[in-house]
Amino acid sequence: MEFLSDHLNDYIENHTSPENEHLKSLHRETYQKVLQPRMLSGHLQGRVLSMLTHLIRPKTILEIGTYTGYSAICMAEGIAAGGQIHTIDINEELEPLVSKYLALTGNSKKVTMHIGNALEIIPNLDIQFDLVFIDADKTNYLAYYKMIFDRLDIGAYIIADNVLWSGKVLDESEIENDPDTRALVNFNTFVHNDARVENVLFPIRDGLMVIRKIAN
Ligand code: SAH
Ligand code: CA
Repeated sequence: MEFLSDHLNDYIENHTSPENEHLKSLHRETYQKVLQPRMLSGHLQGRVLSMLTHLIRPKTILEIGTYTGYSAICMAEGIAAGGQIHTIDINEELEPLVSKYLALTGNSKKVTMHIGNALEIIPNLDIQFDLVFIDADKTNYLAYYKMIFDRLDIGAYIIADNVLWSGKVLDESEIENDPDTRALVNFNTFVHNDARVENVLFPIRDGLMVIRKIAN
């Protein structure tokens, strides 16, 4: 389900800075070669991630769910000088494509890829993060949130993608029968009731929950 009409979406994309040629080509190559290409952030959300990263200016970023690297490359645009992105994906087959585009965009040094289950990798990353982008398996969103919370200083940000799940978060039968929908509803409820954070649910693409840590 699209939340806005095609006309309005076109207007928004036409008044948002374009993707550069490398991101366009990564977009194309993902659609040609990789399963479930709709998972790629794409033009508008990519520009949003780039803009938010420029605003936050993090030195350290954790991304959970690399896929083909589109969102990591967008966040790399705004990272502070000398900063580092750690990105995790369980699917080792994606690695060559990600590496190719990190090299093309000059980000090979800025981005460290970790291949494996994020639930196992995160506890071994002994790093404080200024920004965490949660975009992997929906059933573990809350587990990721809880795992990384102590790795954030006060003032750090979490962004979680797909929190509207095509609008299914409003559908009682989806909540009952679909584990992903149920997990996202639980995540949104938990975050919203968590007094240690401030949160805004941005209705961008499939819903971006932007969270700022205000207490330990
Ligand atoms: N952030 C990307 C899209 C990520 S799609 C973008 O915006 O372009 C979600 C990814 O999460 C998939 O590539 C999938 O392989 C990965 N994933 C799913 N479960 C995972 C897990 N337990 N640990 C690490 N990665 C996982
Ligand atoms: Ca996503």
